[in-house]
Amino acid sequence: MTQKFDVIIIGGGPAGSTCANLLTKKGLSVAIIDKEKFPRDKICAGWITPAVIETLKIDLEDYRQNRTLQPLTGFITGMIGEKCRLTRYGKPMSYGIRRCEFDHYLLERSGAKQILGEPVKTMVRKGNLWTINEKFTSRLLIGAGGHFCPVTKHTGTKFGQTEPIVAAQEVEFKMDAAHKADCLVEAESPELYFCRDLKGYGWIFRKGDYLNIGLGRQDNHKLSKHVELFVKDLQQAGRVPKTLPKKMSGHAYLLYGDTPRTLYDDGLLVIGDAAGLAYAQSGEGIRPAIESAVFAAEVALAARSDYSRDKLKHYQTRIEERFGQRDKRRNIKLARIIPTSFKRMLAAKLLASKYFSRNFVLNKWFFHMEQAPLKIK
Ligand SMILES: Cc1cc2nc3c(=O)[nH]c(=O)nc-3n(C[C@H](O)[C@H](O)[C@H](O)COP(=O)(O)OP(=O)(O)OC[C@H]3O[C@@H](n4cnc5c(N)ncnc54)[C@H](O)[C@@H]3O)c2cc1C
Repeated sequence: MTQKFDVIIIGGGPAGSTCANLLTKKGLSVAIIDKEKFPRDKICAGWITPAVIETLKIDLEDYRQNRTLQPLTGFITGMIGEKCRLTRYGKPMSYGIRRCEFDHYLLERSGAKQILGEPVKTMVRKGNLWTINEKFTSRLLIGAGGHFCPVTKHTGTKFGQTEPIVAAQEVEFKMDAAHKADCLVEAESPELYFCRDLKGYGWIFRKGDYLNIGLGRQDNHKLSKHVELFVKDLQQAGRVPKTLPKKMSGHAYLLYGDTPRTLYDDGLLVIGDAAGLAYAQSGEGIRPAIESAVFAAEVALAARSDYSRDKLKHYQTRIEERFGQRDKRRNIKLARIIPTSFKRMLAAKLLASKYFSRNFVLNKWFFHMEQAPLKIK
């Protein structure tokens, strides 16, 4: 006996839950299948921009009742080992959340049937019907399973072979009194430190009682060494506790434009990290994941149950209208012509500038202030 749904979504992260929420509100029967049982942890710094709150219409007072919600009003930026700069805004420009809480909250309000602790192992398409794990069927399948989404594998992605990934490691833990006494980081002001070769950045991020430390790079060669040196530097400067109670964990993802992953096909849409959508400058992935989910839901609803490739192709158009053409290779070549030593020197000077830190690093790269929040129709 199989269970039938209008739509099956693989992955109950922000992308999957957001898409499910919009489809169930219009009366579709939706199942979210996730290999984990929720609440589950997700390797992430947990920084969200106000655009996410606005698009998802999250009531902050309600959310913070029994969850961590850290308003962020100031930001320390600089290059590792150089003088850094504090930019204050005097109002929340972003928020710190814990992914185990945030993702669970979104899943609970999605209205979908939750099939949890169920890794997707098989997906078969016969006629216009998908059968997942030989148990669940639907005419539309949405891949929202993150970087290693099984739907992406089904469409031909060979993980770890041709894709220029961002590799990142982080640790998040609840600080006890000794940790707190040994940590100079202010909760309202997360700290961002760019690597000297400009291939990534590290962060320290205090959210209420929790501390999150991490570093991500576009080049995963000797990542652990980079992370180790970064943490040692912070410990020597007294910014973070001398001993961390947990080991670092790692994960990979893709920046927008670096991948030709399939976004749609007959009976299929791919959203969030599964589609490789994180912002290239900051690595912020939650906002693009949510926005792609909105586009996917709108395109699916407009298709009126005809989920042919032709009806779903508009999804890619919406993505490219919002985030730009996916092929950025021309820009990458140009960037390579500039000598690295010159880029480093220039970057160190720019990062020391008050104007550049506020207007480019923060307002443009991290807050995407030029892009208005997406409104759900
Ligand atoms: C170290 C690090 C720090 C980051 N920090 C930030 C940040 O501060 N802010 C930000 O905006 N972004 C950040 N990101 C990026 C962000 O985490 C992702 O872009 C975001 O989680 C994408 O959401 P998603 O719903 O597409 O996928 P995910 O959140 O990855 O959810 C995918 C879901 O699919 C499930 N799944 C996977 N495989 C299967 C399977 N075979 N069967 C069933 N279920 C499956 C998983 O269990 C998971 O629940 C960070 C990433 C990393 C690695």
